[in-house]
Amino acid sequence: MSELDNNLQKIETLLAPLKKEALPHFINGKRAAGRSGNTFEGYTPVDNSVIGDVAAGNADDIDAACQAADAAFEGWREMPGSERKKLLHKVADAIVDNAESIALVESYDSGQPLRFMNKAAIRSAANFRFFGDMAPNARDGQSLPADEHINYSIRQPIGPVGVITPWNTPFMLSTWKIAPALAAGCTVVHKPAEWSPYTAMMLAEIAHDAGLPDGVLNCVQGLGEDAGKTLTEHPLIKAIAFVGESMTGSHIMRQGADTLKRVHFELGGKNPVIVFDDADLERALDAVVFMIYSLNGERCTSSSRLLVQESIQDEFNAKLVERIGKLTVGHPLDPETEIGPLIHKRHFDKVCSYFTTAVEDGASIAAGGKAIEGAGNFVAPTLFADASNDMRVAQQEIFGPVLTAIPFKDEAEALRIANDTEYGLAAYVWTNDIGRGHRLAKNLDAGMIWVNSENNRHLPAPFGGMKASGIGRDGGDYSFEFYMETKNVCVALGSHRVPKLGK
Ligand code: NAD
Repeated sequence: MSELDNNLQKIETLLAPLKKEALPHFINGKRAAGRSGNTFEGYTPVDNSVIGDVAAGNADDIDAACQAADAAFEGWREMPGSERKKLLHKVADAIVDNAESIALVESYDSGQPLRFMNKAAIRSAANFRFFGDMAPNARDGQSLPADEHINYSIRQPIGPVGVITPWNTPFMLSTWKIAPALAAGCTVVHKPAEWSPYTAMMLAEIAHDAGLPDGVLNCVQGLGEDAGKTLTEHPLIKAIAFVGESMTGSHIMRQGADTLKRVHFELGGKNPVIVFDDADLERALDAVVFMIYSLNGERCTSSSRLLVQESIQDEFNAKLVERIGKLTVGHPLDPETEIGPLIHKRHFDKVCSYFTTAVEDGASIAAGGKAIEGAGNFVAPTLFADASNDMRVAQQEIFGPVLTAIPFKDEAEALRIANDTEYGLAAYVWTNDIGRGHRLAKNLDAGMIWVNSENNRHLPAPFGGMKASGIGRDGGDYSFEFYMETKNVCVALGSHRVPKLGK
């Protein structure tokens, strides 16, 4: 039996229960059918067939989850950090134990190739361990002595928080939010994306079975404009950590205004990778291919604009086209597959529409530029060449295995083009001129700059974007700044003059 057949058999067994009953919510330590009885269908992008029904959460479901998170908050907040650390490590162990199932379900549900989802499940466990280790010191503040007063700060968890996540690598992404929130002492209501609902439920159950108390992590399935919106408006929820499109971020800011929600947004990107003629071109090529064609190009930090110096443009693009021709597009559960199907028919149609848009705007199609025939949402990995930065394919987030190559003359022009976008998430620079690398790092408008590297994540480092790419940073202590309130305590030494009124 081939590995693909073997994996197909495993996925059938894993998903069999979902044929009988709708995927429920997980509220207060228990599975909970939707209160309205309404459902929506979950699909696999492999052939757009229905996996099963999913409970469509409404305001009542969200309210029940928020009440549960609120009731659990005090106990979780008061638990010593060392105990929370132990529990979060147990969650990590349980994720590792279930890594194969998580990866299979994630891959079949989202279309992301199994080769990447295997690693994503393990990375998720690492997120829980990393933030678990930080839990005992999460409350630590600063000591700020003044002449006649001692100031010191302490941090306390903000309260129950809402976590709203998108459909690209949903399990891993949600753990970036949920793990630090729990480590900080917050309780969580998670609303996963309606196009990828399955592994969120697995996380809630795995974490509960590993020992998380009832109500500490709740999961409500549902549509953004219904369950998502209600969560952002709920008065018991003190903050919303959101990953998704920039437009949705605007909606959430509006929706959360009445209850003065603290928000953390990780939004879209149109990230440049700038390749200079003095770079190690083999390594640059590997990174360029990896950063747009891995994860189906459905990655916020994908380098979707290739800025290549004119002097090497022909040579670099020719090598790129050769590599694109060798990429393996196929079933996501086949371990050989490098590019799987796009998440949903609607997204597939959007990505395919850019094949016409590119030509209308005057770019040429150097590779791909078409859908792959069949029932699933497969597209050929694509390179648009001879493009300029004002074209729609250079300005709009396509979110597929689609790269737009734009030539530049010199450093000044590269910088101008790179910054000429509404987004500011990531930028990649390939050069062997160390001064130029640092100059660009200083002048590029992006929250994260990688010099001579692809997206390499160090968990204590800040992750996030500027401009329309987001508000706030994840990672290390940056996460705690979001999930906690900082309190200053000012104690007099007894020597200062207290103002005297009315004497
Ligand atoms: P999306 O904004 O459509 O949906 C994200 C989540 O928001 C879903 O759970 C959805 O149900 C919910 N939602 C939708 N409308 C809502 C509303 N009015 N109120 C509350 N919740 C609502 O995004 P998507 O299409 O699922 O994901 C792709 C996007 O995510 C891309 O733009 C990508 O760049 C971005 N993304 C950013 C990062 C980052 O770190 N910057 C990481 C991954 C993805």
